[in-house]
Amino acid sequence: MIDGLNNYLDEKGIASVMDLVGRSVPKYTDWGNLDLNYKVVAKINNDKCIHCNKCYISCEDTSHQCIDRLTDENGNSILKVREEDCVGCNLCSIVCPVDGAIDMIEQPSDTALTWNERQALISGGLQSGQKLINKKN
Ligand code: SF4
Ligand code: SF4
Repeated sequence: MIDGLNNYLDEKGIASVMDLVGRSVPKYTDWGNLDLNYKVVAKINNDKCIHCNKCYISCEDTSHQCIDRLTDENGNSILKVREEDCVGCNLCSIVCPVDGAIDMIEQPSDTALTWNERQALISGGLQSGQKLINKKN
């Protein structure tokens, strides 16, 4: 773990592990304030993929079984994510040994709705007709 942490710091050009302490604090918020409509999906770049199938196995065994093993027009094996079924858990990306073979792509959405807003709607805490879905900037 120490070697891994040292490698990470070197890759990022960070001199000391103490420079990481507290970096995520400004981004912290109660989970109820998170946007329920935020969505990312995995995209496999077959030109970088080495076909180890680790992503396929991880998605099959522990996630949403949404990576298909296909054959392209030249008869080459390829992997393709069914985006409509992908929940963006990131597991495939974490197990992939090749940098850049899997990207997590944010899906555009012009609306935002937090869990707290949703609960307020359900409990009747908002006035009838009050706008619940905020346009994103
Ligand atoms: S992000 Fe999760 S659900 Fe989507 S393809 Fe990867 S492992 Fe499957
Ligand atoms: S884990 Fe990465 S390298 Fe392995 S098959 Fe999936 S995309 Fe390709």
